[in-house]
Formats: sequence, structure tokens, C-alpha cells
Amino acid sequence: MAKVSEIYGSMVFNEHTMQERLPSATYKSLLKTIKEGKPLDIEVANVVAHAMKEWAIEKGATHYTHWFQPLTGITSEKHDSFLDPCGDGRAIMSFSGKELIQGEPDASSFPSGGLRATFEARGYTAWDPTSYAFIKDEVLCIPTAFCSYTGEALDKKTPLLRSMSAIDEQAKRVLALFGEKPLRVTTTVGAEQEYFLISEKDYAQRQDLIMTGRTLFGYAPCKGQELEEHYFGAIRPTVNEFMKELDDELWKLGVSAKTKHNEVAPAQHELAPIFANSNRGIDENLLTMEKMRLLASHYGLVCLQHEKPFEGINGSGKHNNWSISTGKTNLLEPGESPMDNLRFLVFLTGVIQAVDDYQELLRMSVATAGNDHRLGANEAPPAIISMFLGDELGAIVDALIDDHEYTSAEKVAMDLGVSVLPNFLRDNTDRNRTSPFAFTGNKFEFRMPGSAVNLSDCNMILNTAMAKSLKEFADAMEGKAGEEFEAAAIAYIKDMLTKHQRIIFNGNGYSDEWPVEAERRGLANHRTTADALPCFVDPKSIALFEEFGVLSEPEVRSRYEVKLEKYNKLVNIEARTMKRMVRRAYLPAINDYAAEVASNITTVKAASAGADMGQQEDLLKKLLAGIKEINEQLIALDENHHACVALEDEQEQANMNAHTILPIMDKLRAAVDQMEIVTDRDHWPVPTYNDMLFYV
Ligand code: ADP
Ligand code: MG
Repeated sequence: MAKVSEIYGSMVFNEHTMQERLPSATYKSLLKTIKEGKPLDIEVANVVAHAMKEWAIEKGATHYTHWFQPLTGITSEKHDSFLDPCGDGRAIMSFSGKELIQGEPDASSFPSGGLRATFEARGYTAWDPTSYAFIKDEVLCIPTAFCSYTGEALDKKTPLLRSMSAIDEQAKRVLALFGEKPLRVTTTVGAEQEYFLISEKDYAQRQDLIMTGRTLFGYAPCKGQELEEHYFGAIRPTVNEFMKELDDELWKLGVSAKTKHNEVAPAQHELAPIFANSNRGIDENLLTMEKMRLLASHYGLVCLQHEKPFEGINGSGKHNNWSISTGKTNLLEPGESPMDNLRFLVFLTGVIQAVDDYQELLRMSVATAGNDHRLGANEAPPAIISMFLGDELGAIVDALIDDHEYTSAEKVAMDLGVSVLPNFLRDNTDRNRTSPFAFTGNKFEFRMPGSAVNLSDCNMILNTAMAKSLKEFADAMEGKAGEEFEAAAIAYIKDMLTKHQRIIFNGNGYSDEWPVEAERRGLANHRTTADALPCFVDPKSIALFEEFGVLSEPEVRSRYEVKLEKYNKLVNIEARTMKRMVRRAYLPAINDYAAEVASNITTVKAASAGADMGQQEDLLKKLLAGIKEINEQLIALDENHHACVALEDEQEQANMNAHTILPIMDKLRAAVDQMEIVTDRDHWPVPTYNDMLFYV
């Protein structure tokens, strides 16, 4: 076994490799691009491309690809070899700066939400030097953005990068008021990835898992998670082997996989990396997800990344840990000195304002067909956005709002007057698990994203909304300095906190009282994707994206279309899979079993006149009633499904899917599940929850 320090990052063209391989002038100017966002010229790109190619070939690579994230949310790649024929029957391996900087995939089959008609299908990919290139399966992967020839973003990365620039610019303005001049301010992301592992054999027998990623049927297992024995439990050998290979592969790719453990639900696990800048952090998460899916097959396993593969036990999320950093200072870290604390309060207040003002957009950013089974379903955070600050910070905010003295847990009285701000301790006592947006000491943890989602959307929104808060603060403070600035800043903070107090909620987000209280506070509660998506195209949202150059109105509209279409397509696939399984697997099985019970009754009665067959007759009645109920729901689903797909308007279709089709699907499922527990095991056509959840 190679040492971790030797393999870590061995397949990444990282700063260390750059420094080793590039002439120092090239290295310096590339670093300026990476660290300060300065543009890169073609001369530099040529030198970098050559060094990258040499390095990649030494590592066994034969191909390169522009690795990008179309609006499907997953990553895409098309491999080109380095091969360049010389004309005399031989070939050399070549790779130019132009090939590094720009690529032209035939983009006609990627979703664009009407931005790009197929006759002008060509989009192009552009190198993103702020995320490292890496080698995966003998292919040099170059992280890229994906745009149309008219300049519109066709991917998830471009707006994220734009939002990072926006926050960089505004945060620097704010920091300048504190006399600080960092080169670049970036946001950071650490994505905790939850997933399930089940056996390939079981998976192969479940059409629903294969087609939709979740079980559309299945009665609750005899034991769920109530014994609390799986969470942090000893990891079983096969899973352990899988996790070890996963770590090794990720480390080679420079993904700092740090923590692995069993999660709450049976067969559920989690991997958490060490955070990185948002762009790299999200790329790493996508690589992690891909490696998980591919490596599972080495162990006869399938990795399920759906948000709710099994009903009745926990689903899978992807906590988005988020902060803002100058590279040296975490700006959400409460400081040591009063001025550091004032800066912290300015940034904290900015986050509170951003989350309150754009709560619907944040909710929208994690709305998917899969996540709808999770949010608000009594184990994930609710579909309502609120923020948890913890006792100490909560008390400080209250004190600021009410203008009263604050006494810390250590009983140190703190003067909230002009120049002496509290020197409070990092709050690490509370662990509220029910809050969708929790302060965890020196970062926020956004817990709504589902396990399958690409985190670019929610980070893009968070960053842009935060850029707006910071801009407003910087505008209001313009020209102020010294004590005048401090006094104005504190007054501003108090005013903002008072205005946005409604978003702070430190109680139990799973309680029945909370939605009622949230409604009283005027907080949004969009339970389904169909309800959550329209806010994307609100004038307020479009104005935000346009103000910071993150998305143009046509880009916003196209993304809304793509999200709607995807939701409708997924529900459509689920409905079709359901009907197919009921007609071809469940009904025949239950019918067979009913016929067997009936014939047993006749046989026994014939052999023993007057035998008491009451139990069997009851069972037969139950089976026949179940068959009837299944048929009724199947007809209802069939009729409504046809009516739904005939709707031309995608939003109307989404509304019908959310409020008519999915509820019928629930009823159909319940009817089939009821039969599962009375039908003989040998007749049941698929592995059950009991079979699937406890073996691997
Ligand atoms: P938790 O608070 O959930 O118990 P940790 O403190 O270990 O757990 O952090 C969870 C995740 O948050 C990890 O992926 C970690 O790298 C990430 N994280 C820590 N600090 C930051 C930060 N400043 N910005 C973004 N993510 C961070
Ligand atoms: Mg966490």
C-alpha cells in the first residue's frame, strides 16, 4: 500500500506540479489568474498546455477532455486523444494552448431551455483555471465552463463563477472600510455526501430502482432505524473495502475525503471532505459522486444517490457547509478583537439579510422531484427556510435588536456601545439538527440540498444574495471612517437585524407548531418543486441576477424551463414504471397467490367436508379486495397520467404532477404494499425492504 502522502494529489495538476513543471514566469502569471482572477493570455496557455500534456502522458494518459457541467447537473466529457499524425505514417502526441482554453462539443443534445436552437447547436467550453485539471481513467480532465456562441451560460459552473466574482468585488469594498485589502475573497464549500449501498443482485430485480433511483413500492422493514444501531456503527467488511478504495481514488484526485461513517438509516453512509473554494469544492463533490457510483460495482454493490430511495427511513442529503474567506481569514469566524467582531457582525448580518430576502430562491435551488420526498417529511429540514444561530450568538443578536446589555455565558458583561463590541467565544455548544440553515461556529450549514443535487445552483444564489447585502452595506458606509464608521455600522446592523429577525428560529423545525408560526411570520413554505420553481422567474429574482451579472433574464428563464421539464420527465418516468410493475409483476403475482389460496380452500373442503376454512377465506377476501383497490388506483393513475402528459404548459403539467399524479401514486403504492405483507414470499416478485437493507 502506497503512503497517503505519496498518492495524495498525484493525479492532479495542482500548484505544486505547476511550480515544478512550468517556467517561473508562466507559473506566476497562471497563479495570478487562479488567485486573483486575472485574464490569461494565449502564450501562457500554450506553455501550460505543453507542460500539462507531458505530465499527463507520463501518468499514462492518452486522451484529454473538457470536463463540464451541463444543465442536467451531472458532468459531461468527450474524450479526444493527443494523437497528431505527422503525415509520414507516424504520429506525435500534441496538445495546444487553444485546445486547452477552448473546446467545441456538439452540444445539441444538452438541455438549454430554448436558449439554443438545434440548428445553431454548437456551444463551446472554456477552461476554468481556478479548478485544477486532473487525470481520471487515462484521460486528462480539464474543468471547463460551457457557453453558447452568443455568450449565454449553458452550464452550472459559469453562473457560480460569476457569483464568486460578485461576492469578491463587494466583500473587498466592505473589507476596505476595515482597512483590509485581500487579493481575493472567495466562498468556501464543504459538501457532506450521504448515500446508500445495496447489493447488485437485489438492485437488478428492482425495475423501480433501475429506472427511477428510488423504490416506488415496498412495505416498511420489520426494523427500521429505531434501534439507532447503524449511526456511527462498526462498518462491515465489504463496505469498508469499498470505502478504502474510494478514499484512495479520491486522494489521488486531490479530493480531501476526510470523514466516513455509517449514517442513521440502515445501509446508509456518509463521506465528508475538507472544504475548498466553492468552485473546486463542487467539482470535488461531483467527482466523489461519480467515483462512488463506479467503484461500488467492484464489490457487487450499487450506490444509490437518490434523496429518498426507501420510504419510512431517512433519506439522503448533502449538507452544504459554506463560508467566506480571504485565504487567510474566515470572515464568519467571530474574532478576538472588537473590530474583528464588528467585521464578523457585518458579514453575519449580511447572511441573515440575504437568506431572509431570498429564502424562496434558496428553497427553489434545491427543489427536485427526489428532494420533495425529503424536505418537510419529518426527518429532513422542513421546506421552510429559517436560520439557527445557537444560544450565544442568538442572545447577542437579540441584545443588539433590543438595545440591552449582553452577558455572555462566562458572565462577562459586554458593552454594545459604539466602539467596544463583544469579544465573544466561538459558539460550539448547540447542535440543532432540524434547522435548514444553521450557524456552526465559523460557517453556515445549509441542510436542504438533496444527495443527488449539483450544489452550484444553491451556492450561486447564496453568493449573489450575499453580494447584494454587502453592496448595500458598502454603499451606505461610503465615505465614512473611524468612529463615525463604527457608529454607522452598528446602527446599520441593528436596523437590518430588526428587519430580518423573522428568519431566525432556534426551535424544533420538525414540530407541528413551526409551520403555523412560520406562516404567521410570513415565511414561504413551498412543499413541492412545482410550487417552488416559479419564484425563479419573479421580477425580484431576475433583478438580483442581472444586478450582479450572474444570469441574464433569458438565462434565468431557460433554467426555469429546464428545471420544470426535468421534474415533469422524472415524474412521468416514475408513473410509467409504476404502471408497468403493477401490471406485469405485482398484479400477476397477487392473482396467482389468490388462485392458490382459493384452490387450497376447495381441495381441503373436498378432502374434509365441513372443515373450518374461515381463516383462508378471510385471506382470500383480503387478497381480492386488494386486487380491486390496486386496479382502481391503476385506472386512476392511467387516466390522469394521460391527461397530464397532454398538457402543453410545463408549469401546469408540474402542478398536476405534484398535486394529482403523485398523490395517486402514493395510493397505488399503499395498495400494493398492503398486499406484500399477506402474500406468500415465494410469490412476491421483487426483493423486499427486509431483503435489501440489512445485508451489505
Ligand atoms: P459538523 O459541523 O457537521 O459536525 P465539521 O465541523 O467536521 O462537521 O464540518 C463539516 C463539513 O464542513 C466538512 O466538510 C468541513 O470541511 C466543512 N467546513 C468546515 N469549515 C468550513 C468552512 N469555513 N467553509 C466551508 N466548509 C467548511
Ligand atoms: Mg454536518
